[in-house]
Amino acid sequence: MPFDVSQPFDVVIAGAGLAGGSLALRLARSGARVALLDPARFPREKLCGEFLSPEAWGVLDRLGLAQAVERSGYEPIHRVRLTTPRARVLEAEFTSPDGLPGIGLGRSMLDHLLIQHARAAGAEVIEEARVSGPIVHDGCVVGVVARGSGGGGAPLELRATVTVAAEGRHSTLVRQTGTTRARSRFRPRLFGMKRHLNVPDPAAEPGGTVGLHLVPGGYGGTCRIEGGLTNLCALLPESALRTHRGQLDRLADTVFAANPALAHLWATCHPAAPWKTVAGVRVEASVPRLPGIFYAGDCQGTIDPLGGQGMTMALLGGETLAPFVTAALVAEASFLSLQQAYRTAWHQRFDRRIRLCRLFHHLLINPWVIDLASAFKTLAPQLLAAGFEQTRDRPAHRSGRP
Ligand SMILES: Cc1cc2nc3c(=O)[nH]c(=O)nc-3n(C[C@H](O)[C@H](O)[C@H](O)COP(=O)(O)OP(=O)(O)OC[C@H]3O[C@@H](n4cnc5c(N)ncnc54)[C@H](O)[C@@H]3O)c2cc1C
Repeated sequence: MPFDVSQPFDVVIAGAGLAGGSLALRLARSGARVALLDPARFPREKLCGEFLSPEAWGVLDRLGLAQAVERSGYEPIHRVRLTTPRARVLEAEFTSPDGLPGIGLGRSMLDHLLIQHARAAGAEVIEEARVSGPIVHDGCVVGVVARGSGGGGAPLELRATVTVAAEGRHSTLVRQTGTTRARSRFRPRLFGMKRHLNVPDPAAEPGGTVGLHLVPGGYGGTCRIEGGLTNLCALLPESALRTHRGQLDRLADTVFAANPALAHLWATCHPAAPWKTVAGVRVEASVPRLPGIFYAGDCQGTIDPLGGQGMTMALLGGETLAPFVTAALVAEASFLSLQQAYRTAWHQRFDRRIRLCRLFHHLLINPWVIDLASAFKTLAPQLLAAGFEQTRDRPAHRSGRP
């Protein structure tokens, strides 16, 4: 075994996505002994819209990743384009206040970059290891139990002063150590389906543009990424999945036909990878019931995907959490008070954008709102761009690339 598990780690992190990977990188750089576990072998594909808002440049830079992203062949995104079933189109330009574009970049590339940097900083990255539960001693979480991704092999016990759940939505650790509350009760359960495509017709997917193509009850999001590929990621009611008995191509044929722009893109594209799916997409927040553990990224709380903020929030959330983990390592205060203080800091930083993205979701997935707005040709794009700008950090928190 290449690492010594007989000695407790300072921090064990379940999940090497953006929250877990970025936290591991920060803590390893500050000298902590960190283990980062994930069932995947990297690089790996992941369901996501693969659009990062321009605000992400600041936190990527603070992580020392901005240059690697610049060299990645990412697609600079300057424009959002909404299309409706009645063939209306609403477009708005956006960049960060310092003129930086949004980022179209595949998760296999971005997450791999992050764990390569975490590993180089000294974190023990353990791939193909699925965390199955916490180790609890005297009512406190003191590590995790993991198994090989295939479920085989002897369980691996990793003990640590601090445990972090960063396994994304539907986290095993959160289910066993905390309470999760949905933040919007009146929405149907949604599911996501993503696929990489080759789109030969540039009019179907203009470069530099993130697309939101509205269909009944949801939308298909499109974003050009590295390698000339287009990511198509749809968010739809789970009822559509049941109606089509889980047959994703048939579902796509039927649902995408409702929107002429999306129907054209779907009819003329060449799929470049299989579908990936996720069910039970909700906006929710979690609270730990036991000391010894913090929640990061989607484990702490989720946001409507429509605003393209979840990845940036996961990266910024790792930044928010790092000082509380460090304080717990030196036992600066009781674990319960650190959990409480972190939760307050997290909600102060992100609640406003979560509320705004929820409002956007409700407004924008109603095609008649866009049909109506597209009549106001000058005002509507300005309002749309200003709205998206409002979902970013307030200036006090901002720090772009130098
Ligand atoms: C349909 C959809 C589209 C989206 N589009 C966008 C977008 O365009 N832009 C954007 O910014 N955000 C988007 N998001 C949100 C974004 O994907 C998430 O907010 C973000 O990935 C959260 O990062 P995370 O690190 O918390 O979790 P994740 O990125 O989900 O990473 C979790 C990691 O934990 C691992 N894991 C899972 N189970 C275990 C286990 N038992 N043990 C150990 N590890 C485990 C997984 O393999 C994964 O690597 C979208 C979300 C959805 C649902």
